[in-house]
Amino acid sequence: MTTPTLPHISVPPHPVWPLLEPKQKRALMDRIKAYLKREKAVLVAHYYVDGDLQALAEETGGCVADSLEMARFGAEQDADTLVVCGVRFMGETAKILNPEKRVLMPDIKASCSLDDGCPADLFSAFCDQYPDHRVVVYANTSAAVKARADWMVTSSIALPVVQHLHEQGEKVLWAPDKHLGHYVQKMTGTEMVLWPGACVVHEEFKSVALERIRRLHPEAAVLVHPESPDSVVQQADLVGSTTQLIKAVTELPNPEFIVATDEGIFWKMRQLAPDKKLIAAPTAGEGATCESCAHCPWMAMNALQNLADCLEKGAPVIRVDPLIRERAILPIQRMLAFARERGIGSRQK
Ligand code: SF4
Repeated sequence: MTTPTLPHISVPPHPVWPLLEPKQKRALMDRIKAYLKREKAVLVAHYYVDGDLQALAEETGGCVADSLEMARFGAEQDADTLVVCGVRFMGETAKILNPEKRVLMPDIKASCSLDDGCPADLFSAFCDQYPDHRVVVYANTSAAVKARADWMVTSSIALPVVQHLHEQGEKVLWAPDKHLGHYVQKMTGTEMVLWPGACVVHEEFKSVALERIRRLHPEAAVLVHPESPDSVVQQADLVGSTTQLIKAVTELPNPEFIVATDEGIFWKMRQLAPDKKLIAAPTAGEGATCESCAHCPWMAMNALQNLADCLEKGAPVIRVDPLIRERAILPIQRMLAFARERGIGSRQK
């Protein structure tokens, strides 16, 4: 069996958006609201995008959610247009589930290191080596990679799906995040082969610096997304998806939380638990090896300015080849049906 050699991931610099005066911001938000009405469009935003976009999505009847809920919400809407504020695979998933709707994104270059690190041709050759394994891919993959999968999962549902396959006596081929795959393997005891990809944001969380911060804040609970390295996951009081981490801040009695995931999540955490102190888990820091500094450079490509432009121009539009779509929808529908049957996931408001 050969281990795939992954392509080099080129990480873009963080976009620098001009600061808006409160008056300018209000005017831009009003313009976006008018476009949303005119286009019969709804905003579907991820927890990692800028807080202004999350606020606007909520104010206008859209949603702010993790990838599982974004997919589900988009499929329930009778709007003509879905505007996905997130990264490209989220726009593609929305298009796969809603071929009759127009799907727009503020910036089509908003990619993801996991998606870029798992090209469909290499992945397909990897799958060919394990014909007796069930192929489970994370949502952070292209439509073409999903088309090769049996199941698509998000971090909210990865454990129960793989546990279910394990109980059926199945072996699993997992892609693309090796850290999440390793965590799922450890928790379920399933025989798994892992694609060796990683998220540039979560990979940067540093375990030694985290130990130091924990000593300084003994009352803090450590919340970790399972895309983080094992040495960071092992220090967690709670490991979970974005939705599970948000829930923990509202439900755990701790006055402080050290959070190891994209700092965009703080907007929702502060909204739901304003009295709790939130501390960002340490990364390597700017000027060191860190290319992310706890904020995804692709998620940061979403801003009020290019959201207004995309609604005004009706572009960029997300397209998915109909033949790929026909195959890619199956693992997504399988996940949604499984979530429905087991009552997994509930939208955060
Ligand atoms: S935070 Fe990581 S997994 Fe999420 S979109 Fe960015 S690169 Fe991809």
